[in-house]
Amino acid sequence: MKVPFLDMKARHAAGKREFLQAIGGIIDSGDFCGDAAVEEFEREFAAYCGCRHAVSVGSGTDALWLTMRAMGIGPGDEVITVPMTYMATIEAILMTGAKPVFVDIEEMTYTMDPAGLERAVSPRTKGILPVHLFGQPASMAPVTEFASQHGLRVIEDAAQAHGAEYQARKAGSLGHAGCFSFYPSKNLGAFGDGGAVVTDNDDLAGNLRVLRNHGQPSKNRHAVLGWNSRLDGIQAAVLRIKLRDLDAQNARRRAHAARYHAAFEGVPGIIRPECAADRLHVHHIHAIRTRDRRRMLEHLAAQGIECGVHYPLPAHLQPALSNMGFRRGDFPGSERCAAEFISLPMFAELTAAQIDCVVEAVMEASGAFAST
Ligand SMILES: *Cc1c(COP(=O)(O)O)cnc(C)c1O
Repeated sequence: MKVPFLDMKARHAAGKREFLQAIGGIIDSGDFCGDAAVEEFEREFAAYCGCRHAVSVGSGTDALWLTMRAMGIGPGDEVITVPMTYMATIEAILMTGAKPVFVDIEEMTYTMDPAGLERAVSPRTKGILPVHLFGQPASMAPVTEFASQHGLRVIEDAAQAHGAEYQARKAGSLGHAGCFSFYPSKNLGAFGDGGAVVTDNDDLAGNLRVLRNHGQPSKNRHAVLGWNSRLDGIQAAVLRIKLRDLDAQNARRRAHAARYHAAFEGVPGIIRPECAADRLHVHHIHAIRTRDRRRMLEHLAAQGIECGVHYPLPAHLQPALSNMGFRRGDFPGSERCAAEFISLPMFAELTAAQIDCVVEAVMEASGAFAST
């Protein structure tokens, strides 16, 4: 049986008529850039996250970059983050002119290890940017406590964590600002690029609205140097429909993750992803770990099972950062995970038969390697 990593067609098949109707509505109104659909989506997404404001932007990368700019983070400043993330997190820091400073991840949740903050902080530190990797919120209580002791901003990279919760509060609402991506493959995905920042801070939201629109607080008055980073009307209309079943979609992902988890209990050579007790995981990515990744991936591919690796090279070892002087061995937790992660098929429409097929192939492979 062929099992895709992600099935976009299955995601949209049932609702196609509704999506087309909503897009038709935008064509009829001519509200292509902003206006009603965008404002309504912003209101609904803010309410969903339990925040006063949602400011939509052009992408998740822009959400991170513009948030840090709106906070006044720039050249000479440092922002603490993790090397085990998508490169966009690091690009956004570097684009402000600030320097990324890394702390390693906890190997249970694969998110920022707050124990590393003390060593990473300096007089130049302005912010901490934890990443809710794979859909599990980072250990936020110690992060926000450390931040308030040191007067630092906390920016959440929630691009993989729409609807996830930490101590019964939504990802994105845990720091000063939460940054989301609506890239099509994310748990809440548009029909193209998009992003948003959620926050309770009125000034920050106001600054972001100005920055995303060429620095204009009012037409033709460019108060600061801004940028063009808007969510368009069609994306907003699509996202309004998808937001309504985000919780149901996430619940299905959780059920699939539970099926994988039960099946891999006690399987030699497989480390299963865990979820901390005080968190609701939304399983954007379901990554198991195995020492012999190459052979496992080959075996799965031969069975028609499409997998991924998120991420094979941690940020500190990327060529783009080679001038920063990092070395292999600097962040061993991230490096081990980068060498061992395999992302298994995971999307809401996955069937039990497909999961069982993946499970069988993983078992076969792990049994074969254990005996060689
Ligand atoms: C997807 C993603 C981003 C970037 O979002 P884009 O919308 O693609 O710009 C940032 N951080 C993480 C962790 C992501 O997964």
